[in-house]
Amino acid sequence: MANLQLSKHVPPEAADGIWLECIETGETYAPFDGVRYTSDADGLLEVRYAEYPTFDAFSGSGVWRYAAALPFDDGVSLPEGATPLYYAPRLENDIGVRTLRIKHEGMNPTGSFKDRGMTVGVRVAQELGVERLVCASTGNTSAALAAYGARAGMETLVLLPAGKVAAGKVAQASLHGARILEVDGNFDDCLDIVRDLADRGEAYLLNSLNPFRLEGQKTIGHEILERHYRDEGRFPDRIVLPVGNAGNTSALYKTFRELVASGALTPEEVPKLTGVQAEGAAPIVEAIESDEPVRRWDEVETKATAIRIGNPVNAPKAVPGIRETNGTAVAVSDREITQAQRDLAGEGIGVEPASAASVAGLRKLRKQDIVQSDEDVVCLTTGHLLKDPDAAAVAGNDPEPVPNDTDAVLAHVSEE
Ligand SMILES: *Cc1c(COP(=O)(O)O)cnc(C)c1O
Repeated sequence: MANLQLSKHVPPEAADGIWLECIETGETYAPFDGVRYTSDADGLLEVRYAEYPTFDAFSGSGVWRYAAALPFDDGVSLPEGATPLYYAPRLENDIGVRTLRIKHEGMNPTGSFKDRGMTVGVRVAQELGVERLVCASTGNTSAALAAYGARAGMETLVLLPAGKVAAGKVAQASLHGARILEVDGNFDDCLDIVRDLADRGEAYLLNSLNPFRLEGQKTIGHEILERHYRDEGRFPDRIVLPVGNAGNTSALYKTFRELVASGALTPEEVPKLTGVQAEGAAPIVEAIESDEPVRRWDEVETKATAIRIGNPVNAPKAVPGIRETNGTAVAVSDREITQAQRDLAGEGIGVEPASAASVAGLRKLRKQDIVQSDEDVVCLTTGHLLKDPDAAAVAGNDPEPVPNDTDAVLAHVSEE
């Protein structure tokens, strides 16, 4: 697993042992000397550190428990992280794996894992002295940025694909005071505009192209590994997650490489990263299956609006992560996603459609015998049920009108 290695060379640009490095060319940059999202060669950047911590460097709770693996000791916090790692015994039995745990990121302050990235990202925005924040979003990024921007007292702009964002998410961005700019296009079009605005210096970009956001999201990996080890006495064999822009996939891969670099994890203990996309928006699955570079899909469609993305910006970080950890990627239908949403809800775990893709993907891969029955699996559920109340209403039971009378209500519930 050659790519699990991180170089130990500390460049002169490093400040306090931290620098930015281009994943394509290895060019290095000072971390906070002005605003920078990509390298001069337009490659993706990663935050690198002179030293990587082992598990005993962590204390406290939530994202900032992992400060030793982050660029700051604290940030703009609500606070975030420390989400549950549920057991789901009926699903575990039904799908047929050794153990199944659900890491429910919907339990973050604004109801998605995006909060983990924003607590770090908005802290960096303060460090850089910027005034205006901006993101393109399928919804959850805008909800998180609006809340963290409000917390920091900063102006926030969000660009959304008109008519393609779930109701709960727009409501959050709106009440937290972001200006909501609805674009007649899809998410990828919104991101093109946001990148232009950022390049012109009009606002600080907090999409997952921003390498600091992924630093916060690394802590999902830390929490899974620590908690799983505490409960089961071993690390999980596999982590299954929904993939949109592939920021989380990239962030988890980075967690693993850093823990391997510190000696906290052996290469053999690294979980297999397994990405799930909707059939109507599956460029990463296509690339993994065909062994070709990722191709931008101009037309995308799925009920799982949070992963309705045709041009995953973090593909160059995430695809090696899937390959080097011996993971895989799989596409699922909207029908399979809705069924998995019901299955999770049947265990008391309420998630939005994109989140349920992880469980739908696991079920499919287990049926195909790509996932084995003796595996310890963690499925990531990325957002809360209330994010998309319309999808929940369609997937769930219909309300039944009853007369305003106890006997009539009783008679009604005893009917088949
Ligand atoms: C943002 C988001 C995703 C996609 O995550 P990536 O890191 O972009 O792959 C998946 N599910 C939900 C609910 C999200 O909000």
